[in-house]
Amino acid sequence: MDEKISELKKIISTSDQIVAFTGAGFSAESGISTFRGAGGLWSKYDPDIYANINVFMQDSTYYWNFFKDERYPVIKKAKPNDGHYVLVELEKLGKLYRVVTQNIDGLHQEAGNSDVIELHGNTRKINCLSCGKNYTMDETYKKLQKEIPPKCSCGGNLKTGTVLFGEPLPQVALEMAKLAAQNCDLFLVLGSSLVVYPAASMPRIAKKNGANLVIINIDPTPMDEMADIVINDSASKVLSAIINGG
Ligand SMILES: [Zn+2]
Repeated sequence: MDEKISELKKIISTSDQIVAFTGAGFSAESGISTFRGAGGLWSKYDPDIYANINVFMQDSTYYWNFFKDERYPVIKKAKPNDGHYVLVELEKLGKLYRVVTQNIDGLHQEAGNSDVIELHGNTRKINCLSCGKNYTMDETYKKLQKEIPPKCSCGGNLKTGTVLFGEPLPQVALEMAKLAAQNCDLFLVLGSSLVVYPAASMPRIAKKNGANLVIINIDPTPMDEMADIVINDSASKVLSAIINGG
């Protein structure tokens, strides 16, 4: 392990166009429950009902109950973890090119990273589907105490910025993420199992364009064979060890 850490330190010291690609495992260390796998949210809530755009457009009460009971309390309470702050540190050092995230909790921005590409949207960004008016999570939660689904002052329906199942990924974010993968010198995977598209395609793009590929994830991923370094451990722990010289 120590050998891998010092190897990674070396790579980071010679990189100045790092793309940090973060997934559910990264936010899990901030207490945000993961979706897939045993004990994940989707084992309790069928995503085809609670997080599907077609169901949502017909009857959004499923989604909003899920938001009220499971998402709001968790995201409201969550704070950036050590890993988030290491990425801010890397940005200050001029080494970080972009953060590309599959997470929808806005914790990278809260930690202080300025250039974050969100592939699956952002739950904190809520707006009216009729007039576009923005609402905060707190405002929406207050509305949910009174009525579900919550309504805009114009009478329109609200929606969070999360990309739901059946909804296309935001094209601009997707294109920016691909460009970031093409132009980076280190593609650093943090807490993503790299199973879901487009996560699965990004490391290949980076590698093909000459970047180093480092994967830090609790479990093995399908891209491990392609990687220069694989560390099966907590991403925040490994990042802290690198920055703190541990
Ligand atoms: Zn409205």
